[in-house]
Amino acid sequence: MKLVLLGAPGAGKGTQADFIKAALKVPVISTGNLLREAIARETELGQKAKQYMDGGNLVPDELIIGLVKEKLQSPDCASGAIFDGFPRTVAQAEALDAFAAPELALSIEVPDEAIVHRMAGRRTCPRCGSTYHVVGNPPRVEGICDKCGETLGIRKDDAPAVVLQRLEVYHAQTEPVKEHYARQNKLREVSGIGSVEEIRERIFQAMEEGL
Ligand code: AMP
Repeated sequence: MKLVLLGAPGAGKGTQADFIKAALKVPVISTGNLLREAIARETELGQKAKQYMDGGNLVPDELIIGLVKEKLQSPDCASGAIFDGFPRTVAQAEALDAFAAPELALSIEVPDEAIVHRMAGRRTCPRCGSTYHVVGNPPRVEGICDKCGETLGIRKDDAPAVVLQRLEVYHAQTEPVKEHYARQNKLREVSGIGSVEEIRERIFQAMEEGL
């Protein structure tokens, strides 16, 4: 099962990907997390990607497509994967169709105003990439990651000015990906407004209908 999660930055893709992973028993491939890991390890890819990410722009397609292709080779992806933050351009979606076409694309819909508000309260684990919200989805212990115990931080690209740029990039370059999957009759849209549990229910319903 290969499933694509679409939605603006901060729509809740990472949070929901964890629930889907537990249900489908396939790994999550988050290109944002892979890139942040590459930056932390100071690899060549990380060095190339950093300037784009810090400015809220997309990393070039060829770097991302290579990264995902490589990740899909690993044995744990033998029965599929959940793609979080990929594809983000029509070129990436076409490339994915050629080497591992997904069965379903779920788009989590959240209006821009709500995104800007949400991002202001987002906290991220620098070690495992888990995300929280100070009000909407707090960790059990304030400031500490539930999953790995690391101290939570604020991503550099969650700064308000960069969030606006990321939203602009989303509308210009990623929204057309929805059309790509709609043409293949693989797109399901769910509202991303409400509690984490409410959104999870909607997603599971859409998956049942769509699979
Ligand atoms: P995310 O954690 O998914 O919000 O991604 C953070 C940043 O990583 C984005 O703003 C982009 O700069 C970069 N990035 C992540 N995934 C992709 C992708 N599929 N294509 C291009 N850039 C990406």
